[in-house]
Amino acid sequence: MSKKIFLCAISNISSGHCLEDCKFCTQSVKYGASIERFYHKPIEKIVKEAEAARERFAVGFCLVTAGKGLDDKTLRFVCEAAEAVKKEVPELNIIACNGTASLEQLRALKNSGVGSYNHNLETSENFYPQICSTHTWKERYETCENVKNAGLNLCTGGIFGLGESLEDRESMLNSIASLEPASVPLNFYHPNEALPLKDKTLPIEEALEMIRLARAILPNQRIMIAGGREITFGERDSEIFAAGANAIVIGDYLTTSGSDPMRDHRMIEEAGYEIAKECNEH
Ligand code: SF4
Repeated sequence: MSKKIFLCAISNISSGHCLEDCKFCTQSVKYGASIERFYHKPIEKIVKEAEAARERFAVGFCLVTAGKGLDDKTLRFVCEAAEAVKKEVPELNIIACNGTASLEQLRALKNSGVGSYNHNLETSENFYPQICSTHTWKERYETCENVKNAGLNLCTGGIFGLGESLEDRESMLNSIASLEPASVPLNFYHPNEALPLKDKTLPIEEALEMIRLARAILPNQRIMIAGGREITFGERDSEIFAAGANAIVIGDYLTTSGSDPMRDHRMIEEAGYEIAKECNEH
């Protein structure tokens, strides 16, 4: 039986007004990147996107809000969006990605139909102060622990290509492993002229090596290649699966365009893999 590849889609439901200063992120207001900024995407539009994602074989649908964490108003909005999606497209596993979150807030999300919570460690604990000064890595780790304590599936990963060392990469992957997440999104830095980080896209061989390293450290997790796939791997992106990935994000990312999902379906099938139709398949 061929290896199954899981597809996940993301919806940026509140964009571009974050007061934090993560140097790789165009959603920080501090850098003035030229992106679309809005507070609340209309619920009907979110549901339409979820329906379209399912038609394109996504098994997961991620509701992302920019910002450090959840406040009461954002929590209500995400819960409302999750309930609406669950009602219309019950087959989708809903992932919420809303920054720092308390146990109580995470339980509220779970009660609204959210199945997983995404909160990335981003990089190693040591390197983190060099990419963000407005909150700590520890705080991120604690939110990941809260996710598990709330009974949600944890989705935590990071981003490569911020100028971190190999030691930092190994450290981040080991920290992720210590949390025993269900899935691990790996992002590759997508340079933007407005951002203070002037690093370039990682060379493809180095990026593939990072996927191999992640698979060696995380043998049982779903490893998902997320932002930066197109710009890093180009037409060689089917090689990510032989390197150890078994999931990708389809469609657009938060502030950058992704490739056509139909093209991704072809790419997966031509490389000899099968697209998973349900989230809990093996
Ligand atoms: S907290 Fe999240 S949205 Fe805000 S700048 Fe950092 S990565 Fe971007």
